[in-house]
Amino acid sequence: MLITNGRVVTLGDDSKIITNGAVRVRDGSIDAVGVSAELERLYPDDERVDARGQLIMPGNICAHTHFYGAFSRGMGIPGDAPRDFPQILARLWWPLDRALRGPDVKYSALVCLIDAIRHGTTTLVDHHASPSVIEGSLDLIAEAVTEAGLRASLCYEVTDRNGRAEALVGIEENVRFLKRLRAGNDPLLAASFGLHASLTLSDETLADAVSAAEGLETGFHIHAAEGLADQEDSLRKSGRRVVERLYQAGILGPKSILAHCVHVDAWEMELLRDTGTWVTHQPRSNMNNAVGVAPIETMVRGGVNVGMGNDGFSNNMWAEWKAAYLVPKLWHGDPRRGNGADIFRLAVANNARLARIFWPDVPLGELTPGAGADLILVDYQPFTELTADNLPWHIIFGFEVDTITATMVNGRWLMRDRRLLTLDEKAVVARARRLSTGAWQRYQELAGNHG
Ligand SMILES: [Zn+2]
Repeated sequence: MLITNGRVVTLGDDSKIITNGAVRVRDGSIDAVGVSAELERLYPDDERVDARGQLIMPGNICAHTHFYGAFSRGMGIPGDAPRDFPQILARLWWPLDRALRGPDVKYSALVCLIDAIRHGTTTLVDHHASPSVIEGSLDLIAEAVTEAGLRASLCYEVTDRNGRAEALVGIEENVRFLKRLRAGNDPLLAASFGLHASLTLSDETLADAVSAAEGLETGFHIHAAEGLADQEDSLRKSGRRVVERLYQAGILGPKSILAHCVHVDAWEMELLRDTGTWVTHQPRSNMNNAVGVAPIETMVRGGVNVGMGNDGFSNNMWAEWKAAYLVPKLWHGDPRRGNGADIFRLAVANNARLARIFWPDVPLGELTPGAGADLILVDYQPFTELTADNLPWHIIFGFEVDTITATMVNGRWLMRDRRLLTLDEKAVVARARRLSTGAWQRYQELAGNHG
């Protein structure tokens, strides 16, 4: 297939913008990229898709998200507003994840996947919790991902907060799903070993997870130092700070993802760098939980691998870019902070490298021959010059989600002309709304308010 008559934004190491460009897609991969007239001459028999002057770009990658949180949309937390992050966890997320049953798990994922297709996010790294239905929960999400046609890596958040027995079921769910994927050959599904956070994990459970992961060639995906409470808990439990505790436990490494790392000191950053561990940045969530601003610039300068996720906020990754650009300026009172080039590096090049943990043979996040055909069409007509060099600031200030008109993953269109092709949006939304009513009722009971 030839997508012609577009402005091709290749990204990748040799990022360039090709005016009157075209992209050839073949067997799920990018086969050729160049000037439209040239590719049309070379491949006269290919099916043609006219991009009508839109940008042809790689799809966005989200390095940390939670499909299970979707039913929190519009839901009130009973009683006074939570006063800090531990209260937000205890009064919102923990009763909500416990309220989810099997169909909720699937539909919560499906509404997020629709959101991702609409917002041009083609690869997602999910971190799942549903303590009432742990066993098989990753299969339910995998079903949703397959129906949507997106690319996703899944894991289950192991935690001791509901007792040791449930922690072991969580470990088993990760092992089962990792083995299932190894046995199969699904190009779009991947897995990691999920752990909730240092503050809800005992040394015993961490050790069990590490030994269960042996031989599965997996890293871990865990929240780390998101709030100060995580550091206080870790120091109390182990006499060590969070990253040091996780290092001692054997959790760090080039396939592991530590979400947030808002409160890490210099020694922790050194451990992150030396072990090649990934950190993900989610400023919208950090603002919402009032946990602070992660020291992204220091980590990037020091050579830590940092990517960008959304922590369950909308899959509009450009909104995350905007937050990452704005909040350090306000926080530090310095307009030089939150440099656009750094944000671009996190969200594009680094996320593409992070995705290699899960799809080692398929370059993503770039339109170059051999890369995965995960791309979007963006109806953005710049009124100033647009170049590969100033692209970050066009995206931060100019790109809005309503400009995305088409989304393709692995060579298959999931949306064209803003019409979803793989999922029946109306039916999914209607079912999700019915299911969420029940989940909200169970949430109210679990949160201790029957009114
Ligand atoms: Zn998270």
